[in-house]
Amino acid sequence: MANEANNFQQLISHCKEYGYIFQSSELYDGLSAVYDYGQLGAQLKKNLRDEWWKSMTQLHENIVGIDAAIFMHPTVWKASGHVDNFSDPMIDNKDSKKRYRVDHLIEAHAEQLALDGKKDEEAALLKSMDELLAKDDFAGLKTLIDSNNIKCSISKTCNWTDVRQFNLMFKTEFGAVASENPDDNIVYLRPETAQGIFVNFLNVQKTGRMKIPFGIAQTGKAFRNEIVARQFIFRMREFEQMEMQFFVRPGSQMEWYAYWRDARKVWHQSIGIPAEKLRFHDHIKLAHYADAALDIEFEFPFGWKELEGIHSRTDFDLSQHAQYSKKKIQYFDNDVDPATNKPYGNYTPYVVETSVGLDRLFLTVISLAYAEEKWTKEDGTEDSRVVMRIPAKIAPTKLAILPLVKKDGLPEIARQLMDECKQSFMCFYEEKDAIGKRYRRMDAIGTPFCVTIDHQTKEDNTVTIRYRDDMRQERIALSDVKKIVLQSL
Ligand code: ATP
Repeated sequence: MANEANNFQQLISHCKEYGYIFQSSELYDGLSAVYDYGQLGAQLKKNLRDEWWKSMTQLHENIVGIDAAIFMHPTVWKASGHVDNFSDPMIDNKDSKKRYRVDHLIEAHAEQLALDGKKDEEAALLKSMDELLAKDDFAGLKTLIDSNNIKCSISKTCNWTDVRQFNLMFKTEFGAVASENPDDNIVYLRPETAQGIFVNFLNVQKTGRMKIPFGIAQTGKAFRNEIVARQFIFRMREFEQMEMQFFVRPGSQMEWYAYWRDARKVWHQSIGIPAEKLRFHDHIKLAHYADAALDIEFEFPFGWKELEGIHSRTDFDLSQHAQYSKKKIQYFDNDVDPATNKPYGNYTPYVVETSVGLDRLFLTVISLAYAEEKWTKEDGTEDSRVVMRIPAKIAPTKLAILPLVKKDGLPEIARQLMDECKQSFMCFYEEKDAIGKRYRRMDAIGTPFCVTIDHQTKEDNTVTIRYRDDMRQERIALSDVKKIVLQSL
């Protein structure tokens, strides 16, 4: 565990050193739990987003994508329940003034019990916590914290306030005209992208002539005033979601829930996440809108945590928006119901949602990819490298083109290869430094292929290709380079 924690710190430093992720506003000492993606990070993020978008929209004839605005009418958040319910139980330590999410505080204590070999106590504590959370029993949660002698990590005391609710939505003001009632100008930064889909249900269904079952997908920024924002990009205040709402006939939602649960796990495996690093975690406490919910969890360097949520949201959202907007939001289904031999007719569709955080997916990919390797060479000396084994399909740069020297016509051949390949995938050109050093740099940023153009290239039109993962080198025809890279994508 200590090793994993070290490794995680190294990964964070590595991301900064090589242009993947920077602390936001670093020049001004940073803004807590907000991050900027650098030149390589932005490309990796885009590749992940593109893979998701393609798998949802291009590969499913019955799913279309939209891009709704971040600002929405404030009543949206009343209808969705976020104004009243989007809050977490919190507790403050009176000595350190540090605020904790109650479930995180208890889970951290449970983790420590497990590390101390007290597995039964860990299980009992988590079970009690789940039961109390399910009942919103705040007094019970406080008693649980007190009776387990759970301490603040900073003050090391058990001097706790009562448990209170804290709304996570960011508020801001809209327009320049002051209103008599200041509440009239309030808008929220959306805490999830899903509502932009629900309020566009009729627009998309009608204009796209969509037939149930069908889905609407969207990627975009979401904002939550997380109290305990930590673990790098795992929990941020500004983050990106990739959500798909699948509209189904009432009564068929459990079938689709099972379908999407399995389909999403298969998708994660398709981008290189091993099955044994993924698991399902069924929710005991269901959100106010759900009749079933689970998390797809990944084994992060700091333990098993939620990567994606699969939720059966019933007809809650569409019904709420119908009620608050006073508009009819229904679907006319003219398929024949075999039970009655009549068309299904008008109904409010049920919804199965898949919701994955792009930043968490990014963290998943890089924490799997990052490796520090050491080995003994044939001559007995030690060697080492840091490598990012990002699958070629999503790696930010696919191919490095490296002329061995800056003269003798080698850069010209290399530039020609650049021109041939750059239309099809991301390439990187470099002629500075010894070739070994250049290979190491490409390992560190996760470039799967390097091609070296040397003097022999001028004679027989062959080049050396070097594979990042096993550092194997072989001689291939210059004309085969593009094909080999394309085959791996
Ligand atoms: P958690 O329990 O970790 O707070 P959640 O259950 O509130 O997450 P959802 O509301 O289901 O999360 O959001 C769907 C997905 O959005 C999550 O699975 C996660 O990948 C991502 N996500 C949610 N909150 C954050 C955050 N603060 N930072 C980064 N990603 C987030």
